[in-house]
Amino acid sequence: MDKPAIPLSPSNILIVDDQAANLQVLSEILKTRGHKVRPVPSGKLALGAALNDPPDLIMLDIMMPEMDGYEVCRRLKEQAALRHIPVIFISALDDIADKVTGFRAGAVDYIAKPFQAEEVLARVDAHLALHYFQNALQEKGRELALSYWKLQELEDLRDQLTHMVVHDMRNLLTGVACSLRLLQEEVSEGLNGKCARYLQTAVWSVDDLSAMINNLLDVSKLEAEQMTLHLAECDLAGLVNEAMAKLEPTKGDRELAFSPPDGPVLVTGDEAILLRVIINLLNNAIKYTAARGSVRVGMEATQDKVLLLFRDNGPGIPCEYREKIFAKFGQVESPQRMHTCSTGLGLTFCKLAVEAHRGRIWVESELGIGSTFYVELPAGRTLPGEEPAPA
Ligand code: ADP
Repeated sequence: MDKPAIPLSPSNILIVDDQAANLQVLSEILKTRGHKVRPVPSGKLALGAALNDPPDLIMLDIMMPEMDGYEVCRRLKEQAALRHIPVIFISALDDIADKVTGFRAGAVDYIAKPFQAEEVLARVDAHLALHYFQNALQEKGRELALSYWKLQELEDLRDQLTHMVVHDMRNLLTGVACSLRLLQEEVSEGLNGKCARYLQTAVWSVDDLSAMINNLLDVSKLEAEQMTLHLAECDLAGLVNEAMAKLEPTKGDRELAFSPPDGPVLVTGDEAILLRVIINLLNNAIKYTAARGSVRVGMEATQDKVLLLFRDNGPGIPCEYREKIFAKFGQVESPQRMHTCSTGLGLTFCKLAVEAHRGRIWVESELGIGSTFYVELPAGRTLPGEEPAPA
């Protein structure tokens, strides 16, 4: 990369000293570099000159009558328009304490009298270059902040647009799904086996597409914490049975088993959301289990927790993907899975929805053996966010 050119010359330099001879010597040294030099004999005049036309650098004598160099420097640093200008102190004093006082007042350097032309030029060059790069850096920072802000605006706009389009797509899809189902009812008798299968495939595909769209919309709502949970007491075992009945037609010749505990298993939650979590997990277990494989749903309830588990004997999930699959668009990448229709949002929805119910979700898996997804929810009547009643 090319280095940016440093425009050191000509710079605008203000020199402040009550001794005319010193002003003369310094001016001559600095003019050899082509700088525009403005000599002033007092602190008061220096403040006025700096405000009038802010210089690139100020060289300031310490020992001056009325207002000494430290005071001038402090006042310069109080002005927003002037505080960025580098100040180099010049003085016959060579005491360490004076130097420290100078740096505390805001100076960037210190040059002792009598002046050595080479030293003066080297220090002035160095501070002009530093000042130039600081300004350039600040300018870049401002440009970057502006670009980031514009990008953010565009991203928000794109999100809103996507949201609108996806939302409208869902309405249209609902229309397609209803029409297909009505068609199925109307013509079920008259269709030959092949056509009935085509119609059934269309119904399942529309259902899958609707589920994807619902996941997409709900993930953004849950992320923005804009999802309202309609909390009520619900029977988890009943919800598992409902999900199993819904997915029964898609299981093919896989075995699907659920052994519920005796009686209802109660949790406080949003029934529709919890049903969708169960459907997502059960659907994945069926989808990733080969023909004639088996999917089992289990449930264990203790006094304060309910544990739901979905066990399949599919391909398993490699270790490095067991967290990633819960992140947005996270999917296991492997050539065997290329054909699977997947967006990687189902588990993200499940995780956000379970966490909104103050629960947790995780997976245990063994390659070539299968996977088990666990969902743990607070049991009973405890509303999310409330402490459980003391036992
Ligand atoms: P999608 O909604 O597209 O199905 P998910 O978020 O549900 O995506 O799943 C993310 C990824 O996790 C899937 O693409 C798949 O690679 C992996 N996965 C999910 N469930 C299972 C499972 N039971 N067995 C093996 N892999 C799974």
